Amino acid sequence: MNIKSKNYIQLFKPKFRSKEILKEIKKIFKTGWTGIGNKTYTLEKEWEKYSKLKNSLFVNSATAGLHTALEVLKLNYKWNEKSEIITSPISFVSTSHSILYSGLKPIFCDIDYTGTIDPNKLIKLINKNTKGILFVGLGGSCGNLENINKICKKYKIKLILDAAHMSGAYINNQHVGKNIDVSIFSFQAVKNLPTADSGIINFKEKKLLNIARKFSWCGIDKDTYLREKKIRKKNIWEYDVPYLGYKYNGNSVMALIASVSLKYLDKDNKYRRKLANYYIDNLKKNKNIFIVPHTRGSSRHLFSILVRNRNKLISILKKFNINPGVHYKSILEYKYYKKSKLKMVKGDLRISRKFSNQILSLPMHLFLKKKDVDKICSILNEYA
Ligand SMILES: *Cc1c(COP(=O)(O)O)cnc(C)c1O
Repeated sequence: MNIKSKNYIQLFKPKFRSKEILKEIKKIFKTGWTGIGNKTYTLEKEWEKYSKLKNSLFVNSATAGLHTALEVLKLNYKWNEKSEIITSPISFVSTSHSILYSGLKPIFCDIDYTGTIDPNKLIKLINKNTKGILFVGLGGSCGNLENINKICKKYKIKLILDAAHMSGAYINNQHVGKNIDVSIFSFQAVKNLPTADSGIINFKEKKLLNIARKFSWCGIDKDTYLREKKIRKKNIWEYDVPYLGYKYNGNSVMALIASVSLKYLDKDNKYRRKLANYYIDNLKKNKNIFIVPHTRGSSRHLFSILVRNRNKLISILKKFNINPGVHYKSILEYKYYKKSKLKMVKGDLRISRKFSNQILSLPMHLFLKKKDVDKICSILNEYA
C-alpha cells in the first residue's frame, strides 16, 4: 500500500486554504506579535459572531480546553476529590484524562445506539457527589444531548460538552453549545475546523471565562498583550498570580489559520453531509451493517457503522487501498484505565462494549468524491 499513490483513500485529510493563510501569516511576522494578542482576541470575536456562543477562550488544544473547563468549574463551585463527573467510555482519551488531571472522579456511563450517553442509565448513576456530566458529541452528532441537558437542570449538575467533533454542528437551527455550561471545540488538524493544534472554550457564565483566561496563562491575572497596551496608558507593569495555572493559551499563528478555516466551515460541513448521504444511500439496505444515526445538523466529523466482522473488513479495505479507522475502542480497555476500572464503573456497559468491538469509521474528508464512496460501499456490501 502506498500512501502517495493517487488511488489511496485516506481516512481523514485536512484541507488548508494555504494561499490565504500564508498571506495573513506574513503580516504578523512583520509585526512580530505571534503569541497571545490581537489575533487570538480577533479569532474569539469571529467565532462568537459565527456561532452566536458567548465568552470564548482560544486555547492551544481541546485537551487543554477540557482540563481548563473542569479546573475552573472545580475552583468556582468548590468541587473536591470526591466530586464525580459522568462520561462516556467511547471517546478519545483526552475526555476522561481531563477529569483525572483535575483531581475529579470519572464515572463511565453506557451509551445507546446514538453513540452518546444513555439518559436512562445516566439517571441511575446520579448521586450526591455527582457534579457534572461530560458529554461527548460523537462524530458531530448531538445524540441525547438535549435530554441530558434537561436532566442536568433538574438535578442541578453542570453539563460540559466535549465538542471536539462539533465545530459547525447545528441543533434546532442554532450552533451547538447554546444553553450548555461549557463547550470545548477542537481545531486540531483533522477536525472540522483545521489549524495545526488549537481549540476554543465557550462558557455560559462570564465569571468562569475570567478565571479560565488567567488559568490558561499560568494563572497570571493579565496577559502580556493587555499589559503592553496598559503600560502605554497607565504605567502598570505589575501582575499577580492568583492560581496555579498552566501554559494553555492559543497563539496568533494558530488563530490566523483558524480564522481562514472558519470562513469555509459551513461550506465544508455541507459537503461532509452530502458524503454521509451517499454512504447512507449505498448501505441502508445491508442488514449486516448498522449505520450509527446522527442528529440533523451534525457536522459529520465521522461516518461510523457497526459490523460484526470488523477486523476482516479492515484488512479487505486496506487491500483495496482504503484506510478506515476506529473511533473509538472503549477507554476502559487501555492499560492505565483497566487498573482502576472498578472505581470508575457502577453500571452495565453493554452497548459501549458492542461499539468498542464493532465500530468502524469510514473515510470522511473534503477530497473524497462520490465515486470513492461508491467504491468503499460496494466492497462493504460484498464482504460485510
Ligand atoms: C480530538 C479530540 C479531543 C482532543 O482534541 P485536541 O484538540 O487534539 O486536544 C478531545 N475529545 C475528542 C472526542 C476528540 O476527538
